[in-house]
Amino acid sequence: MIFTMNGKQVASSHKKNNLFNPREGGNFGVFETMRTYNGEIFKLDEHLERLEKSAEIVELELQCLISEIRKYILKTLELCDFDPVRIKVVVTDGNVLVKCEKLEIDENIYNGVSVATVPLERRNPEAKSLDYLESYTAHYEAEKSGSFDALLVNSKGMVTEGSFSNLFWVKDGGLFTTDRNILKGITRQTVLDISDCEFKEINVEELKKADEVFLTQTTREIIPVIRINGKEIGDGKVGEKTRELGRVFKWSRDRDSNPGPHPYHGCALPTELSRQDKNSI
Ligand code: PLP
Repeated sequence: MIFTMNGKQVASSHKKNNLFNPREGGNFGVFETMRTYNGEIFKLDEHLERLEKSAEIVELELQCLISEIRKYILKTLELCDFDPVRIKVVVTDGNVLVKCEKLEIDENIYNGVSVATVPLERRNPEAKSLDYLESYTAHYEAEKSGSFDALLVNSKGMVTEGSFSNLFWVKDGGLFTTDRNILKGITRQTVLDISDCEFKEINVEELKKADEVFLTQTTREIIPVIRINGKEIGDGKVGEKTRELGRVFKWSRDRDSNPGPHPYHGCALPTELSRQDKNSI
């Protein structure tokens, strides 16, 4: 693990390392979690933009320019001799902390995960702020009961997002996601860019009747959900549209660094592909 503070490497035992732990750290600050593919940070500019927006929402005055924060992140990444890397940056009113760790992913999640609903409305849902204790608690409670993540349900009974992920579902051939009072995920935006998706609100009972459900998140991309509160979704297997989107997502992710044929080149195009994408094939 590599840990830097304002661009200088410090020991992982440094007390400021606590800021990465929501149970121990203070809660005035903002953060981002990013990842690399072949040494490159995926959507770094978008993450930095969201960091700036989060700071605005919680009224945190950044003590340095975003360009400086970008330099600290890249400098920390240069010290890593492993890949892929999970990069977490925390910005408080005095410090910029960057932590890089080897990203390990349990590939079993791509066979479908279970999730559990939890009543929770996050304060400042559009900000990734250090005031995340409730989300962590919801997540750990869900994990303890064998779920991958918690699905947050607001006071009107509507499901908003996961505690660390965004929510999508497929019903009668249509693709849907929520749009209000959520963290606007970078992965969610990537899915919106490659698909025809509608914004909608949904309650738990309706969501359980969806044909397919999946979550999106920077580190793990598209995660199929096959069970909600113990109830199987569809036939209890990863749905075809979720698989298709996973393939197109990977293609779109890699297209800048490794332009290759579109996964649907010469094949029938799935309805999810946006007009823009169809034109680029
Ligand atoms: N929603 C919440 C509440 C999150 O904390 C996260 C990520 O941590 C997401 C959604 C997914 O966002 P992204 O795709 O940018 O990782």
